[in-house]
Amino acid sequence: MKTKSNYFKKILDWFLPYTCILCGQTSQRNQDLCSACYQILPMIRNSCIYCAISLPESIIEGVCGQCLQKSPPFDVTHALYFYQSPITKLILELKFNQKLIHARVLGELLADQIQQVWYKNKPLPTFIIPVPLHPARLKERGFNQSLEIARPIAKILNLSIDITQCHRHKLTAPQSACSAAERKKNVKGAFSVIGHFAEQHVAVIDDVITTGNTVTEFCKTLKRSGARKIDVWCCARVDRLFSGDG
Ligand SMILES: [Zn+2]
Ligand SMILES: [Zn+2]
Repeated sequence: MKTKSNYFKKILDWFLPYTCILCGQTSQRNQDLCSACYQILPMIRNSCIYCAISLPESIIEGVCGQCLQKSPPFDVTHALYFYQSPITKLILELKFNQKLIHARVLGELLADQIQQVWYKNKPLPTFIIPVPLHPARLKERGFNQSLEIARPIAKILNLSIDITQCHRHKLTAPQSACSAAERKKNVKGAFSVIGHFAEQHVAVIDDVITTGNTVTEFCKTLKRSGARKIDVWCCARVDRLFSGDG
């Protein structure tokens, strides 16, 4: 049966070839992203184990100065790319032009890295929690980009997604509109968790981490609800503090 289904898949691929979301050319990889564009994605090679800010190549499994001063409420952050071109284009078009195919490709890239590198021979979290959007923002956008990125990951890794227990009840100004000092205050008390995560190992998914204030506040709320271990997965990390959304 497997051979038969592979055969049909090959025929289907022939009729419906993959098209690269960046250059529009036919992709020879089994993904809507061609080899040439895949190669130029700005991958983070070495970063702080807690917050994923980049570190010099010479520091292996290091911790940045900020995390040394104060441990964050999550146990690890895995960030795949720098928030630089062309990742910026993919994420902005996903959020503001409803290019949901970008979420699928980014989710597939994350799933691949999770399986092949980050969790090779390590236990995976029990389930995935996308950082929630406020209902007003969800209505305006029509979807939660973090949930859309989580979907292919959950499918590939056979994990569940939880979108019922966590809520964002405070409508905050976009983080990019706030000064560095205001950002922390802006998201304080923004989230609530109903139910509990007693002794669970969970993965929180965010599209982009800028200063980390949003994900920190969300993880604090999750820890208070009993989560034992929180791993943060994100597509892109802003490398130095500047304006952004997270
Ligand atoms: Zn391409
Ligand atoms: Zn750090």
